[in-house]
Amino acid sequence: MENCKISFPRFGNYHIALEFLFTKGLGVEYVTPPPSTKRTLELGSKYSPDYVCSPFKYNLGNFIEAIENGANTLVQTGGVCRLGYYGELHEQILKDLGYHVKFINMSKADYQKPLTFYNEFKKINPNLSLKRISSALLAFLKMVASIDEIEDFVRQNVGFEVHNGEMEKLQDAYLEELKTCENKKDVDKITKKYKKKLKDVKVKKPKKLIRVGIIGEYYTIMEPFSNHFIEKELAKKGIVIYRWMNVTNSVLKYDGKKQKKVIKNYVKYYMGATSMATVYKAVEWAKEGFDGIIHVKSFGCTPEIDAMPVLQKISNDYKIPILYFSFDSQTSETGIQTRLEAFYDMIMMRKEQK
Ligand code: SF4
Repeated sequence: MENCKISFPRFGNYHIALEFLFTKGLGVEYVTPPPSTKRTLELGSKYSPDYVCSPFKYNLGNFIEAIENGANTLVQTGGVCRLGYYGELHEQILKDLGYHVKFINMSKADYQKPLTFYNEFKKINPNLSLKRISSALLAFLKMVASIDEIEDFVRQNVGFEVHNGEMEKLQDAYLEELKTCENKKDVDKITKKYKKKLKDVKVKKPKKLIRVGIIGEYYTIMEPFSNHFIEKELAKKGIVIYRWMNVTNSVLKYDGKKQKKVIKNYVKYYMGATSMATVYKAVEWAKEGFDGIIHVKSFGCTPEIDAMPVLQKISNDYKIPILYFSFDSQTSETGIQTRLEAFYDMIMMRKEQK
């Protein structure tokens, strides 16, 4: 489709895979929204209903910034909470603000029926070929899995590198090189190369490792700006950080049966959005003897609010400390630092007594 400049809200490092999908698979230009900043949140908050959860505000800010950078077609995803209604609201707000853009709302596609996605994609490029999109999709999925795999490794090792900043530099170089991929084979090659490079980085780990797992709501846990770069802060303290929630685990390798089995003593009915996964990982990590768990969510996120009493029960049953963070547009940096420091001191003391 001529002149189509498409964009999707910023979400961790997945914009690289999305750029690939849109350019190689759909044959349209992709406008990467700038990384989320205070301005993004301020813009989004200014035009959003006050009490809406912060992913809505960030996404709206991303859309406005993408339009400023030339985007004329915006894509919003569907979701299993009120996220499913966000697309229509965003579209209306942007229209009221005088932005004339095309809006593709993926909540109209059915996750059980992949062909409905193809139909939505056809709205972007009516000449879309099934062969072309299928092959791009394979490379896209591989890219997503690769981004998640590399991030997992960094998360668990970056706090122990001998020369500060080495892993971050390598990760940045990896993401840059990922942008040059033409197909799945290229993705495999680059992933292999950087896995080796990262493994070669010198690390020094103490005998008594502190393990902390992060659980919580989909957007807040995966978009580092929205959680005030909590993983980086923990790494600075020499903590091994685990995070299960990513696109690979929650979508590509999703195993609902396993989750239900693990949480059967705590959850009887479906709780919505990411709350089942939140409980699932809390139970698993508590059983594995982790030193602590950090729960992150956006202010007003109902499914994760529902998970909190269950987490308190798990915390009591397994004597595992859980720290709760609820982020919104007013969250103070100092408050986060103080609570993280106190949490760290407490788990250190417990560790020494073991
Ligand atoms: S999971 Fe929670 S924070 Fe995320 S979009 Fe849904 S209600 Fe909002």
